[in-house]
Amino acid sequence: MLDLAIIGGGPAGLSAGLYATRGGLKNVVMYEKFMPGGQITSSSEMENYPGVATVMDGISFMAPWSEQSTRFGLKIEQKEVIRVEKNGENFKIIFSDNSSDDAKAVIVCTGAAPKKAGFIGENEFFGRGVSTCATCDGAFYRKKEVAVLGGGDTALEEALYLANLCSKVYLIHRREGFRAAPSTVERAKKNEKIEFILNAKVEEVVGDNAGVTGVKIVFNDGSKKDLAVPGIFTFVGLDVRNEVLKQTDGSFLCEMVGDAVKVDLKMRTSVEGLFAAGDLRVDAPRQVVCAAADGANAALGVISYLESKH
Ligand code: FAD
Ligand code: NAP
Repeated sequence: MLDLAIIGGGPAGLSAGLYATRGGLKNVVMYEKFMPGGQITSSSEMENYPGVATVMDGISFMAPWSEQSTRFGLKIEQKEVIRVEKNGENFKIIFSDNSSDDAKAVIVCTGAAPKKAGFIGENEFFGRGVSTCATCDGAFYRKKEVAVLGGGDTALEEALYLANLCSKVYLIHRREGFRAAPSTVERAKKNEKIEFILNAKVEEVVGDNAGVTGVKIVFNDGSKKDLAVPGIFTFVGLDVRNEVLKQTDGSFLCEMVGDAVKVDLKMRTSVEGLFAAGDLRVDAPRQVVCAAADGANAALGVISYLESKH
């Protein structure tokens, strides 16, 4: 019986592991289906983590996190979790090979993944001109022209953010109407640096070894347009990775808000002993520093929870 099982090894999971083991929990395992590090390992440059003044790629940035968290006894296992179930007062963690472990408490840190838009070159140039994070990568396009894809709140708000940095922002959306709040659309329309390209899809991004050099657009009437831009930001929605909480009857183990996990300020879910931290929790700001803070907060919550059981 584990004291704590942590599912997912991104910034939230690794911070949870560090705080749980350094805080005295002895039997703590973190399960990660790939390599520890999470989404940020797909970023070519990371420069907004407080206290880390050197700009580095996401893999180098996350490398010390595993070493630091295992120093205090965290065990990391490369395993894919398919489901967490309640088992009396405890939890059963079920893996893709059908084996299972039991734990007194669980922190789910499985994160979120930006949806793919589906154009040619999207995967090939991801992190080299195709980005899903303006806060992270916008500064690399200072005084340059960029494209933004999407018509939701994120696309419109991020287009406004990028307009503060870039010389021009092409906002590409597949229809006339927007999901984004009308006031946000109005602000974007009034911004002279933003040019709307509506009723249009991105067909392809093209580039070379250095990254993206252009975006090929096709309008709904079949006409075409090429933009010579070094970057495109796609904001076509996010998928929260909540699958491990889905039960065999299709319900979720704990209360959700849409696809995200409902938590309180201590990262406690609606189920005692079950915590959630990072990008999959409700209202997540989707930044490394915030996910790390959530993980630490959840681990401290688990320590209090287990103490209260004695
Ligand atoms: P994630 O990082 O998503 O980690 C979740 C982990 O859980 C993953 O490793 C995944 O493999 C694992 N997992 C999922 N399901 C399972 C399962 N069933 N079993 C086992 N393991 C599982 N933020 C910044 O602050 N600054 C930046 O510059 C920045 N740049 C970014 C650039 C890019 C390209 C991207 C995609 C994101 C960027 N972000 C940035 C956002 C940041 O990466 C996320 O906010 C942060 O990683 C969220 O951490 P997390 O631990 O909640 O989830
Ligand atoms: P979203 O609301 O789902 O919008 C996604 C946008 O991308 C839509 O305009 C959609 O077009 C478009 N799209 C989807 N798939 C596409 C594809 N393959 N190719 C091209 N375009 C595609 O996502 P979001 O903007 O990230 O917002 C997510 C949620 O967070 C929403 O509920 C949103 O309101 C909320 N949010 C709120 C705020 C705020 O309140 N300030 C800020 C950000 C986000 P269609 O419209 O044609 O479907």
